[in-house]
Amino acid sequence: MSQEFTIEDCAAGVRNAKPSEVRKVFAMSAKPGMISFASGMPELSSLPMDSLADITEDLMRNRGMEVMQYGASTGTDHLKAQIIELMKLEGIENAKPEDIIVTTGSQCGLDILTRVLIDPEDVILAEAPSYSGAMAVFTGAQANVVHVGADHEGLIPEELEKTVEELKAQGRRIKFLYTIPSFQNPGGTMMPQERRDRVREICDANHILIAEDNPYGLLGFEGQVGRAMRADDDNVVYLGSFSKMFAPGLRVGWTLAPSSLSKILGLQAEAAVLNPSVFGQELVAEYLEKTDWQAVLNQYRELYGKRAQALMDVFDEFMPEGVTWTRPEGGFYSWITLPESVDSYELCMTCIDRGVVFVPGTAFYTDGRGTHEARVSFCHPTEEDIRKGAEIFATALKEAISG
Ligand code: PMP
Repeated sequence: MSQEFTIEDCAAGVRNAKPSEVRKVFAMSAKPGMISFASGMPELSSLPMDSLADITEDLMRNRGMEVMQYGASTGTDHLKAQIIELMKLEGIENAKPEDIIVTTGSQCGLDILTRVLIDPEDVILAEAPSYSGAMAVFTGAQANVVHVGADHEGLIPEELEKTVEELKAQGRRIKFLYTIPSFQNPGGTMMPQERRDRVREICDANHILIAEDNPYGLLGFEGQVGRAMRADDDNVVYLGSFSKMFAPGLRVGWTLAPSSLSKILGLQAEAAVLNPSVFGQELVAEYLEKTDWQAVLNQYRELYGKRAQALMDVFDEFMPEGVTWTRPEGGFYSWITLPESVDSYELCMTCIDRGVVFVPGTAFYTDGRGTHEARVSFCHPTEEDIRKGAEIFATALKEAISG
């Protein structure tokens, strides 16, 4: 006899998962013909597919038995050496291979870190708003996510200080601060160096671990690169990813953690995935070693910059009074604040009827906030579709405001 499972049959972390409306919106973004401002899918058209085919052929013909086999649980030495070089671009000069764990994307790194550190009701601090996928992991572990105020320059140190004081007064222990300092998802914001320093100081003074998530750091439109917080503090846990700068389909990311924590994360990683794909890792390592990947990245930066500009141009021209939005200098996203009278989920439904989808703001909070906010991604649609879609969005918004 087959048994129908419902959410009530599941563990508490699953029962607390995010509302199904948001899942519906993500599903709509894949509908043919829809202009999707919802997904964080990178553009892949500039990837050197011929070189990747050559690398793949070489791997299969000459190292097939190795790359098709199980591998080291924390990743290949070859890729770790490349990761160490890559992190130097953001000022991390002292990373050791044994402190790196290669993961199946940084999503897996977030999951491992959370499993290792979080008991139900533990406090995690995160920007208001913050990455929906991380919020799903944290709420799945029954963490208590406390959002800390952020503005057009990311996390606000004074707000962090205030929140920490309040939680301390309540006798609650903060397990870690989850932050995305560079080209934040969903804010699109870049945290200036002074703020990064100040946030580190506050966390250091209060013994709060920082988890720095950085998939977009190399995607500044002008090639500008922020200094990783990990560069100035070996205690920061750094999460990296090849998804946005290369190819999400390979599912390769990494964590760099203090040695003592890295050992425990390694055991958890082994329990979860045994080892990340050796083939995927070696394809990434060879790509970094044998191709002009920086030139490819420059093409993407330019392309994303043009797409962001197209979005900003339409917003500047068509957005009604009372609406504000962030002006990203890198990454994939702009965050929109709507007037209080407009519900972003309802607006999203109207836009879907007209062929445009974005993500309502509630996906980026764990506390029900975000009903008058929205994330618009400009990474995937063409400039032409961005112009069309942004005008549809602004028109629907005008109508919603005038009732
Ligand atoms: N962190 C952030 C901030 C992201 O935006 C994403 C993907 N959207 C991830 C982590 C996960 O990336 P991946 O697992 O593909 O490396």
